[in-house]
Amino acid sequence: MHILDIFRDHPTTFSFEFFPPKSDEASEELFSHIARLQALQPSFVSVTYGAGGSDRERTHDLIFRIQRETNLTAVSHLTSVCHSKEELTQILDRYARSGIENILALRGDPPRDRKNYDRSNDAFQYANELVAFIKQRTDANNPRGFGIGVAGFPEGHPGTPNRLLEMEYLKRKVDAGADYICTQLFFCNDDFYDFRERCELAGIQVPILAGIMPITKNTSIKKMAELALGARFPARLLRALDRCGGDSEAMGRVGIHWASEQCRDLLDNNVRGIHFYTLNRSDATRLIYENLGVKDSLGLRGR
Ligand code: FAD
Repeated sequence: MHILDIFRDHPTTFSFEFFPPKSDEASEELFSHIARLQALQPSFVSVTYGAGGSDRERTHDLIFRIQRETNLTAVSHLTSVCHSKEELTQILDRYARSGIENILALRGDPPRDRKNYDRSNDAFQYANELVAFIKQRTDANNPRGFGIGVAGFPEGHPGTPNRLLEMEYLKRKVDAGADYICTQLFFCNDDFYDFRERCELAGIQVPILAGIMPITKNTSIKKMAELALGARFPARLLRALDRCGGDSEAMGRVGIHWASEQCRDLLDNNVRGIHFYTLNRSDATRLIYENLGVKDSLGLRGR
């Protein structure tokens, strides 16, 4: 099923993101979390794509396992960085043969350990070219072609300080064939609403999913700021975390509360979808559903 079909059937979607675990043990643990999260009836789940060879194989393994062993609709992230056209073709052929129908098409960033990496060797320089490449791929295994999502940045992408230009580039991805936009995580909903309006002004009409990542007892603020390309921590959130005096359990509770309030406000403001960055755990997402007073995504949609 294409994510587009899910949008047609549901006014709001709720999706969960995982990253490929690094060991067999971690993989088993992740699968126990995925099993628990299935009870929340997500609209779909997605798996991130690493920067290096073995990490990339782990993405394929995880996506195939989700496809084989669960009834969840799986979206595989795919980046064009460090890939030739032949490699991308092989990956897409494998996905088509295995029934993976949806891709989140990204440019990606060069691996951190390859500081002088020459991007001119990559098949594509920007994600819109990857979208166009994926879009034109249909074959007997995949006659309809792939459903395609792309990334959006409510606070702007650091590579393009000019935000009007950034919107032009984002529109190119949509015009190339993207069905929806999934955003980078953010902690201040006003940034998302402003981004949504900018998209509207730029003539972008596809659904925009809001990326939400709760701060948990295990997350270090420093690491999160890095992950989030410097996502803005509003002073109110920083103050609330500061009050915890370094108590990680308390910080986890503050983080869940903050994310729950973000979701409540997004739902009140007709968000088209919420994409939860689960960090491969099930507890935080389940607690957010509990805080919102529902037992699954059907409840969040208001039935
Ligand atoms: P692009 O859309 O190509 O944009 C990259 C930069 O180039 C932007 O600054 C853009 O404005 C600019 N630009 C675009 N087109 C042009 C043009 N024609 N001329 C000049 N400038 C242009 N990374 C991973 O490695 N693996 C993942 O699984 C992954 N998943 C992600 C999921 C989501 C929801 C998000 C938001 C990000 C994810 N990322 C992932 C991170 C992403 O790959 C990086 O942020 C990357 O720097 C940008 O990717 P993009 O697809 O937005 O690139």
